[in-house]
Amino acid sequence: TTSLIWFRRDLRLFDHAALHHALKASQKVIAVFIFDRSILDGLKRDDRRIAFIWHSLQQLKASLMAEGSDLVIRHGKAELEIPRLAAEFNATAVYTNHDYEPAAIVRDANVAEQLATVGCQLHSYKDQVIFEKDEVLTKTGGMYSVFTPYKRSWLAKLNDFYLTSYPIKPYLKRLAPLPLQAMPSLAVLGFDDIDVSTLQPGMAGGEALFNDFCLRINDYQEARDFPAVKGVSYLSVHLRFGTVSIRELAKRAWQMGGRGAETWLSELIWREFYQQILWHRPEVVQHAFKPEYDALPFPNNPEYFAAWCEGRTGFPIVDAAMRQLNQTGFMHNRLRMIAASFLVKDLLIDWRWGEQYFAEKLNDFDLAANNGGWQWAASTGCDAQPYFRIFNPVSQSERFDPQGKFIRRYCPELAELSPKEIHAPWLIKAIFGIKPSYDYPAPIVDHAAQRIAALALFKRN
Ligand code: FAD
Repeated sequence: TTSLIWFRRDLRLFDHAALHHALKASQKVIAVFIFDRSILDGLKRDDRRIAFIWHSLQQLKASLMAEGSDLVIRHGKAELEIPRLAAEFNATAVYTNHDYEPAAIVRDANVAEQLATVGCQLHSYKDQVIFEKDEVLTKTGGMYSVFTPYKRSWLAKLNDFYLTSYPIKPYLKRLAPLPLQAMPSLAVLGFDDIDVSTLQPGMAGGEALFNDFCLRINDYQEARDFPAVKGVSYLSVHLRFGTVSIRELAKRAWQMGGRGAETWLSELIWREFYQQILWHRPEVVQHAFKPEYDALPFPNNPEYFAAWCEGRTGFPIVDAAMRQLNQTGFMHNRLRMIAASFLVKDLLIDWRWGEQYFAEKLNDFDLAANNGGWQWAASTGCDAQPYFRIFNPVSQSERFDPQGKFIRRYCPELAELSPKEIHAPWLIKAIFGIKPSYDYPAPIVDHAAQRIAALALFKRN
């Protein structure tokens, strides 16, 4: 029998559920990847994620070639290309891993239907999470909508079985020998060859980043909230595209123990928490998790929105955060919380606008995590920040970037200001009638006034 292994958000050749099952069940396995036009057509030419995928695929291809096989890459709509490839290679089965996003679920159902007409079956497996769908439920069989009890249940259920890897090596001989396959260039795909070397794409990059992080993991608990410090793992883009294995990551953190590793494992559990919310409540993609907050009357001032996107609100920590996002595609978690809160509670703009902007820009954009994060910050989500707790951008800045080191990196026009001045430059007093001059905007809103307006907006509801 011949099978296809269809790679999507799992671009690696180790500990891989679908590949493991394909290799075990078939005599010949052919690895395929589709550059799906239904996804690509919505993206800008300079999208970093396509470059990240492309470079990660190059590694995957090289690893397959080292085994005498190759990666078959097509460029089109998955619904057409997968059945076409199945016919071309006379495959009786296609193996892949679950994707929990609503659009992907529809796509996979369509592909399965198409394949069935030619007598080919689609087999799909859990791979990108430790626990999925209904695996962690409340005592009464419901979905958890509060994180802490979810996490408690998640940890109670965890054992070696769920962390065991899906071995690939013993079966590699079953990869079909293939003549050299062409790989479409980024230009042919309609994208720029953006330099993504700092993201360290591919399996090798994911491994290097994780090994580096393991040396620092004991400090994670203390360092993770400070954007100027190298305190976090920077693995999110690798988790998004599956160049690392969640089982390996969770296993190592679980075995290491200690406060740093435990806190980090907790973040991996947040990731699964939002995945299961999206699975159970796919309507969160358009709507507030809390229906009473779905239609808040946000004024949605487009000029404020533009200033926020471009990093010129006059609030240094917010502007530095947005410039980091625009320049690198990454934003530190503390800054995501600050920038999101500022958009919703200071600029009074619908969280969905910000969610969309992040979705366009983030290298690690993940529908479940991004939607969960935004709804958390906007106080419209499950287990969200209560609406009356509003971040003060200046005190957040003083607390999490005390020396202004991060601000200086992205707002060089403020570099000369002292650590005391840099968080709220509009407060600097003139000495002998002279204020330091710098080319930086005045704040576009008054936090105290906007806070009151936000409270009224939520309360009126
Ligand atoms: P680490 O601190 O090293 O954490 C390890 C991993 O845990 C991350 O890679 C990620 O996979 C997961 N994780 C950590 N925090 C969260 C969280 N709050 N929710 C879900 N998973 C988490 N994360 C994304 O992966 N994609 C997104 O699109 C995304 N959008 C966000 C939007 C907002 C408004 C907010 C507040 C958070 C968002 N996050 C998102 C979560 C978090 O900010 C990033 O995962 C984290 O900053 C990535 O850096 P890291 O890999 O160094 O994280």
